[in-house]
Amino acid sequence: MKKQAELYSGKAKTVYATDDPNQLIMHFRNDTSAFDGEKVAQLERKGMVNNKFNAFIMQKLEAGGVPTHFEKLMTEDESLFKKLDMLPVECVVRNISAGSLCRRLGIEEGMDLEPPTFEFFLKNDQLHDPMINDSHILTFKWATQDEIAQMKALTFKVNDILKALFADAGMLLVDYKVEFGRYQGSLLLGDEFSPDGCRLWDAETRKKLDKDRFRQGLGDVVEAYEEVAHRLGVNLEPIPDNI
Ligand code: 5GP
Repeated sequence: MKKQAELYSGKAKTVYATDDPNQLIMHFRNDTSAFDGEKVAQLERKGMVNNKFNAFIMQKLEAGGVPTHFEKLMTEDESLFKKLDMLPVECVVRNISAGSLCRRLGIEEGMDLEPPTFEFFLKNDQLHDPMINDSHILTFKWATQDEIAQMKALTFKVNDILKALFADAGMLLVDYKVEFGRYQGSLLLGDEFSPDGCRLWDAETRKKLDKDRFRQGLGDVVEAYEEVAHRLGVNLEPIPDNI
């Protein structure tokens, strides 16, 4: 599979066409950003860690019955994916209060949320990804009623699978963001799942092991991502040439 023209470069990933019109190569870069691109940095090894972490999680989700766009690892920091027609919305599930939920609702961090909450946000950096609801999605035709139902069901299925996976490795899945896209008549999980787009706390100490370390200037960002990967059993060793 050959990498062709660059199609899109986001804040942390670059997407390339391939010689197959239905497949893409995604390059996970070391660039890290927060606050809609206001805070940026280069973090050594982050691209490699997130590429392998994402591959591991996508395979777990696929095995648990969540259809994803992941095809295979290509290089240390690149993977092959199905080319989706992405829906312009983010789906967020929260098991413990943190982040924008606390700011918006005046709730203190660390409350168990039972049942977990579900929120939609519009993907729009200029507008700072505003929160939206089903009605906005239908009116502005960002997705159909059936796709809304599927996004909710699949995002909660991701929660069931990953909450257990992280719990077994001594971590709490606090919250996460996922995105979906259309592929040949089906809705598939797209984008990535990595510590850049979720909150993970050590179950005992509640030490933050995710991108909040970068957002809040806590340091040892990639070291925390590597710790999460090691606890889960993600192989971060160099990929052999004959893959
Ligand atoms: P919050 O709404 O509290 O800022 O974020 C909720 C969860 O979704 C967090 O785990 C956060 O990392 C993730 N999230 C929300 N928006 C984005 C985004 O634009 N990019 C990434 N990578 N993650 C996001």
